[in-house]
Amino acid sequence: MTDGLNKLMTALPAQSWTQDADIIAPHLVEWRDKYQGHTPLMLTPRSTKEVARAVKICAAHNIKIVPQGGNTGLVGGQTPMGEVLLSTKKLTQICDVNPVDNAMIAQAGCTLQAVHDAAAKVDRQFPLLLSSQGSCSIGGNLSTNAGGNHVLRYGTTKDLVFGVEAVLPNGDIYNGLTSLRKDNTGYDLSRLFLGAEGTLGIITAASLKLFARPAHLQRAMMAVDGPDAALKLLDICQSSGRLAMFEVIPQIGFRAVTENIPNQRDPFTEPHPWYVLADWETDSAQAGADLAESLLGQAFEAALMRDAVIAQSDSQAAQLLAIREHMSAGQKFLGGSIKFDITVPLNHIPAFFEKADAAMQAQIPACRPVGFGHFGDGNIHYNIAQPEGADKEAFLAQWQAVSETVFDITESFGGSISAEHGIGIMKKEDLARRADPVKMALLRSIKKSLDPQNIMNPRVMV
Ligand SMILES: Cc1cc2nc3c(=O)[nH]c(=O)nc-3n(C[C@H](O)[C@H](O)[C@H](O)COP(=O)(O)OP(=O)(O)OC[C@H]3O[C@@H](n4cnc5c(N)ncnc54)[C@H](O)[C@@H]3O)c2cc1C
Repeated sequence: MTDGLNKLMTALPAQSWTQDADIIAPHLVEWRDKYQGHTPLMLTPRSTKEVARAVKICAAHNIKIVPQGGNTGLVGGQTPMGEVLLSTKKLTQICDVNPVDNAMIAQAGCTLQAVHDAAAKVDRQFPLLLSSQGSCSIGGNLSTNAGGNHVLRYGTTKDLVFGVEAVLPNGDIYNGLTSLRKDNTGYDLSRLFLGAEGTLGIITAASLKLFARPAHLQRAMMAVDGPDAALKLLDICQSSGRLAMFEVIPQIGFRAVTENIPNQRDPFTEPHPWYVLADWETDSAQAGADLAESLLGQAFEAALMRDAVIAQSDSQAAQLLAIREHMSAGQKFLGGSIKFDITVPLNHIPAFFEKADAAMQAQIPACRPVGFGHFGDGNIHYNIAQPEGADKEAFLAQWQAVSETVFDITESFGGSISAEHGIGIMKKEDLARRADPVKMALLRSIKKSLDPQNIMNPRVMV
């Protein structure tokens, strides 16, 4: 290993690696403080060629590598435990923006926000919308197949990409940077890297799909009784064909944000059991206001809605979204939290909540379920906050037992134990035990054929 590390440090320019503990430190902790890593060396290559040179040396010396983008992943996949850390933070070039093809080529380390800004400059949008967009990288988004708030209209990240450039575990460079919408010339190799969590290679750049920018985004927040009303409300909100977002927040999460996070306030005059946040893409502000009023009028008439706030300005729209965006931060004020990222078919969401809430109370009396998130695409962040005043460590020690219950219920409705965050370290054992053996065998055989030495993110997923 020492020999290989020395080779890496001599083969790469001094700006492309570091062993400085202070520089490396923030890369070794992650957002949830769940994993604390360590590494002998952090590589910060500045070009695809430098990535390839580094990986070739690692392959020759059997040195394991953990790729890292913005370090916002929530399943521990980006945290090295003794492996070399390869950060894409210096691969930040927007290489090409082509509004005719509606395509953009961006290097993997570009933040999602930088991609949004570059698209806006040519009057286009890249519609992936995550609260972490100021920090997460496009390479990380592709590697986790990130979802976010716009999935019900635009799909997940894998639907938003033409192809990728990636450095393979042997150091070869695969170039799939096309903007062709039709190209049936064999397996879609770029797709292999989407959602691969860095196990098959390092994505160095991507050709992304751009979309027309809506003239206006009409936002509204609605108060409802619970998941059943929310599901019926979704049907009405979708009837326009313009719905881009449909998120839910239960009262406990809403209050955790509005009562604890600076500058957040409750836009309603009284508390409600559940809140829905919706966006519609419309041709003008007037058309947006008319559409929201008409749809929400229907919801009132059907007795599905307790109250509603229709955003009247960009700043009011931003205030409403901020409550949803602060949900993760807000929950820290509730103490320890056991977190899930599950998805079930939409029609089963109310039954999922009913069954899971009852099972949780039976398992941990007085625990506080906080099920929020991307209701419109079936993805619920079903988190369980500790009972008030309980011992945090003792509560968190029940994570695996609680997982078994939640995952059993999820699967009983035909759902998935990982909707958008991926498998990482956190759900590796769960996947191995629960996935169809044929699927596991296929995943392992693809991994083995591309990475026979198991040097790419070796502890993750498979
Ligand atoms: C506040 C908050 C809100 C979030 N909201 C959402 C949400 O709504 N939807 C959602 O899907 N996720 C969400 N996330 C999770 C996270 O932001 C996404 O998973 C994001 O895509 C990770 O990007 P990253 O650049 O931070 O990746 P990292 O955390 O750096 O890495 C994630 C994984 O990808 C691998 N990886 C990173 N870059 C590369 C590369 N270039 N090549 C190969 N492998 C690579 C890593 O090894 C790791 O396995 C949220 C996170 C936070 C903190």
